[in-house]
Amino acid sequence: MAFQPQPDDALVVVDVQNDFCPGGALGVPDGDQVVPVINQLAPRFATVVVTQDSHPAGHSSFVEQGGPWPVHCLEGAHGWELHPELDVQADFNVYKGRDRELDGYTGWNAELAEFLRKRGVHRVVVTGLALDYCVKATALDARAAGHETVVLTDATRPVDVQPGDGKRALDELRQAGVREDTAA
Ligand SMILES: [Zn+2]
Repeated sequence: MAFQPQPDDALVVVDVQNDFCPGGALGVPDGDQVVPVINQLAPRFATVVVTQDSHPAGHSSFVEQGGPWPVHCLEGAHGWELHPELDVQADFNVYKGRDRELDGYTGWNAELAEFLRKRGVHRVVVTGLALDYCVKATALDARAAGHETVVLTDATRPVDVQPGDGKRALDELRQAGVREDTAA
């Protein structure tokens, strides 16, 4: 039974960018495999939000600045662009990680919250990359903002820096009251 979107759902597509797909600066294993799943899903939602990790040079998350990650998603660069096969019409775009000092994991912010409130969105359905960082952070913030929140496990992948990080992320989400489902 495929996931059934409701009219007051919003689909959030997190960071399906070249740098997070295989071959990218911070490639998530099989990250590109979420693309066809999300392409099938998106037209069935009345509201679609697309986030992009959007860093300036010298961002605090980069190794050279003492952060955990290689340079990735420099705003405007090829690696920052959405995967070329992602075929999604966004009603709202979030460009996160522009603040040099903040990790930028979450796609949630006050402007998005206000947009969803005006649209009458009740449930937030989170997909994209990577499960154990930006998908998790976005879903936790949507839940904390009072939305019923679902993560579609076949429309996300973990980076799994430590084996099991993806599974631990799902445990943490469950404990916060985020539901799991599958797109297909
Ligand atoms: Zn980043």
